[in-house]
Amino acid sequence: TDVTIKRALLSVSDKAGLDDLGAKLAKAGVDLVSTGGTAKALRDGGLDVRDVSDVTGFPEMMDGRVKTLHPMVHGGLLAVRDDADHAAAMETHGIGAIDLVVVNLYPFESTVARGADRDTVIENIDIGGPSMVRSAAKNHRYVTIITDPADYPELLEELANNNGATTLEFRKRMAAKAFAATAAYDAAISQWFAYADQQQKFPPQVSMTRVLSGTLRYGENPHQDAALYLPRGPHTNGLPQAQQVQGKELSYNNYNDANAAFELAAEFGGQEPAVVIVKHANPCGVAQRGTLLEAWNDALACDSVSAFGGIVATNVPLDGPTAEAICEIFTEVVVAPGADDAAKAAFARKKNLRLLLTDGLPDPRRAGQTLAIIAGGILVQDRDNGAITADDLKVVTDRAPTEQELKDCLFAWTVARHVKSNAIVYAKDGATAGIGAGQMNRRDSSRIAAMKAAEAAEKYGWASPRTVGSAVASDAFFPFADGLLAAAEAGATAVIQPGGSIRDEEVIAAANEAGLAMVFTGMRHFRH
Ligand code: 5GP
Repeated sequence: TDVTIKRALLSVSDKAGLDDLGAKLAKAGVDLVSTGGTAKALRDGGLDVRDVSDVTGFPEMMDGRVKTLHPMVHGGLLAVRDDADHAAAMETHGIGAIDLVVVNLYPFESTVARGADRDTVIENIDIGGPSMVRSAAKNHRYVTIITDPADYPELLEELANNNGATTLEFRKRMAAKAFAATAAYDAAISQWFAYADQQQKFPPQVSMTRVLSGTLRYGENPHQDAALYLPRGPHTNGLPQAQQVQGKELSYNNYNDANAAFELAAEFGGQEPAVVIVKHANPCGVAQRGTLLEAWNDALACDSVSAFGGIVATNVPLDGPTAEAICEIFTEVVVAPGADDAAKAAFARKKNLRLLLTDGLPDPRRAGQTLAIIAGGILVQDRDNGAITADDLKVVTDRAPTEQELKDCLFAWTVARHVKSNAIVYAKDGATAGIGAGQMNRRDSSRIAAMKAAEAAEKYGWASPRTVGSAVASDAFFPFADGLLAAAEAGATAVIQPGGSIRDEEVIAAANEAGLAMVFTGMRHFRH
């Protein structure tokens, strides 16, 4: 099943590594055939090359739109060599077999990325290149296809190890890569037509714009296989871009939870230090303080029981004292935009702890879309990047919030949007006091948050839970007054919520009666 390479067709836009490859193939006695620019580059390197126009008997024409689209080329690529009819057709028409195709395509994506005009973008849709790639890949039983300059060294090694031939295993692997390349190329073109040219919000297909980055140990559970995909094109400062400094391999759950933690940490910008502790994709403690260590201590105090085995994210580089403190409890993952040497040294003593460092924070307001697979279909939506500022708030109670209450409201609101619905978050002085997540009704979330705050007070010996005098945020409106009253009972004095319930009047009246200050955001942040 080994096929000796006697004739190669080289046609590449990206000429990186071409000289070296051409020279080594020529030295191995391979006949080289090339299109205009590629042939010129090879000749400039002193090599003997046959022009493809010589093979086809037609000049390259129409601005290069038609170069290799010819039976003399595609017959040489597609013929089943040991089929008598195919062999006879080759004989009759004087078609020579092509054993190796090295092609990379017109740079469509980078042409779009540099903001080229429409005609230039269209001209950079490669037609003959993908055709050759597909012909060669289809006929990988006989033909070797190389589409990525990064594979040149492996090709040369393959030839060296097999006496100038390639193995079927190698040709299959490269064929799979080739079809992935043409699929991604066509996906990029169809995306451009849909988004840029036709202004369609949702392109016809979504999944093909991602590339496999790696397989994970397993999925959410050990009996599920899992993999990580990266979007093609520009990326965010996310976990896949982070440097893993130490620790065990990241699991599916690690990625998911660390992402939740880092996305919330990013909400606090890169100035005043903030710490987020996450468990099962929900924050269980968040604080922003003068120092990172203080932020850690206050984030931990919110729910120190849940923090065990948690995921920690910060918005500023890690320092030694904070790292030492984090190491005192069992932590799965720490993600941060950098760490100093003292922090790295502290973590080094916990060799299983996964430490991930990024170059910066993802932009929480970035555009983008999220996917959810349901039985029989895929749901696509915009990222929840909507945000409100203090100016958007509408005071709906007799009493307006004090300046401190307003600050606490906005802090609680920022956290609440990162908590699974129903989300109730109490906050005071830049730290969460209690978080109620994922309950099927809002009143239960209120009560769970208050219960956690009471437990913390008991554990730390505080005179009263931190919910006393706190602000409470609700990710969606209170449909009844009961959830709000549960919060008042826990000691909250200010409330932030979207508003918009048909019973708003009833809820506002209850707030007034309890002496609460309440603001409406007009924006909801469900997270299911
Ligand atoms: P060169 O620089 O050698 O003149 O052109 C190389 C590029 O032309 C490669 O990216 C290859 O995919 C592309 N190509 C080869 N044959 C054809 C063809 O018949 N039509 C078009 N549009 N592109 C081709």
